[in-house]
Amino acid sequence: MHITYTAAMQAAPDTTNEDRFAVGDGWALVLDGAGRYPGESGGCIHPITWVVDRLAAHLASGLGRPGQTLKTIVRVAIEATMADHGPLCDLDDPLSPGATGAIVRIDHDQVEWLVLGDCAVVIDQGAEHCASVIDDRVDHLPDAPVVEGRVRTYSPAYVATVRNTPEGFWVLGAAPEAADHALVGALPRESVDQVLLCSDGVSRLTERYGWTWREVLDLGTANGPSALIRAVREAERGDPDPRRWRGKRHDDTTVVTLQLADQAEERQMGMKITGRSPSP
Ligand SMILES: [Zn+2]
Repeated sequence: MHITYTAAMQAAPDTTNEDRFAVGDGWALVLDGAGRYPGESGGCIHPITWVVDRLAAHLASGLGRPGQTLKTIVRVAIEATMADHGPLCDLDDPLSPGATGAIVRIDHDQVEWLVLGDCAVVIDQGAEHCASVIDDRVDHLPDAPVVEGRVRTYSPAYVATVRNTPEGFWVLGAAPEAADHALVGALPRESVDQVLLCSDGVSRLTERYGWTWREVLDLGTANGPSALIRAVREAERGDPDPRRWRGKRHDDTTVVTLQLADQAEERQMGMKITGRSPSP
């Protein structure tokens, strides 16, 4: 099985990047820190970057070991991250920092994915056919109050009542049962040409700016993942009214693509994953 990956990541202007990605032998993941609300500690003494780093490390460790379901890997990674916090952090605080995430794992038979929160997985099946997997529960909360602060967003008091609950939405962080609520699926390996994983900083091309996923895949294929990040920044700069959206004007942007070589190539090229370094 020969898989080639490309990746690019860029923080929102003048901010600390809270996205992460990792790629291993037959898998890739993207995480997007679900950060603090202004004035809220979330009960945790750690920076959000520490939390996403711990989650990424534990997920990578689980993905490197065969035989577990993606949900189990996520559950174990959340539990291990919780154990890392230590006694000074109150993990019962509903605003405890966490992350949204997307994971793809590929073996000889299938392409599997897991999505939790607003990261996305897009499966390119060639020609006109592609399928996107986005957990948009956070966008469909009934009567969710939006507050007009520096960033237009849900009120923290409201989020505290719906975060990591069956009526609300789930993130990776301090609730191991979030794993059971992730969106998971699989397709036969031979039906997939490539898979794209991204944070919501990139999926806003489709959600805000009218792109189709086919257009996103084609630009990434033609000009590489950095071109997608440039397209995001261009669309954001040209947005006449960014306050119409819930969320930041600019966000951290991360995109990873996994190209699956066809069977003929596979026989010639061997079994190892290869990659290019991420470009900033
Ligand atoms: Zn902590």
